[in-house]
Amino acid sequence: MSNIGFIGLGNMGAPMAHNLLKAGHALSVFDLSAVAMRKLVDAGASQAASAQDAVSHAEIVISMLPASRHVEGLYLGDEGILGHIKQGTLIIECSTIAAQSAKTVAAAANARGLAMLDAPVSGGTGGALVGTLTFIVGGDAEVLERARPILSAMGKNIFHAGTHGAGQTAKICNNMLLGILMAGTAEALALGVASGLDPIVLSDIMSKSSGRNWALELYNPYPGVMENVPAARGYTGGFGVDLMLKDLGLATETALNAQASIPLGELARNLYALHSKSGAGVLDFSSIVQMLQKAE
Ligand code: NAD
Repeated sequence: MSNIGFIGLGNMGAPMAHNLLKAGHALSVFDLSAVAMRKLVDAGASQAASAQDAVSHAEIVISMLPASRHVEGLYLGDEGILGHIKQGTLIIECSTIAAQSAKTVAAAANARGLAMLDAPVSGGTGGALVGTLTFIVGGDAEVLERARPILSAMGKNIFHAGTHGAGQTAKICNNMLLGILMAGTAEALALGVASGLDPIVLSDIMSKSSGRNWALELYNPYPGVMENVPAARGYTGGFGVDLMLKDLGLATETALNAQASIPLGELARNLYALHSKSGAGVLDFSSIVQMLQKAE
């Protein structure tokens, strides 16, 4: 069992940290939110006074923060935690960030003799809760083997995408597709309901037909169709519109670097940007259906 420093206890980080506690690891946790830390401390983690404090005795460091700027701010610079992590410690960075940021932070860690992986996840808050996340890993294969027992306590599928940053690139491709699929699923359901169909019946039909997809079958955006999804609880506690918008922005950046064409990804980015501007930024991304629903 390992001493783990865990930073970032939001919608994803909290259930991931809970699963590590359940697997018998000792956790020192830190989040900017005292409320978020309290829940982990009640479950047996020890509360660190700062991010530096959380990592100073750790054998494994895990971070799960919103975006590139938070991750670079955490690890780099005079206040950064890299200077507080002891030799031999393994760093697993699970946030979804720019591939370039992942490479920059890994290079700074390597320069100090520390091993680091980018290990963004897929599977949503439901997957984080039950420990079935998919980890999409970038970094050295032998470092991934060291990380595997820890990742297995939080996830079911572990993929090695390639070198540093490759985990992020693969994750961004996946989330661009997810953003498009959710917008398309919401559009189809809103059209059916506006034309007099029952969203439950239509969802059932499409999930046994060629329109079937993850957003429709496991994360249905229409209220009243499924239990235990954000649409059933006012679009709270899932994957925020602004986080999806960030990921679609990363897809645009990736496409510019690769001189690739992503017309549907760009369209989805614009849809989520409009939805966010209307005040929905903190709601779950499946609330995109609200933009398309006929006013009642
Ligand atoms: P969240 O906003 O719920 O949680 C982020 C947490 O980080 C918050 O508790 C915040 O207080 C904390 N934080 C921010 N800056 C910090 C700092 N400097 N030090 C300590 N704590 C800090 O976000 P989330 O939904 O948990 O997502 C985290 C990451 O996982 C994002 O990159 C997101 O894109 C990715 N992701 C989310 C989902 C999902 O379904 N929510 C799924 C896959 C991947």
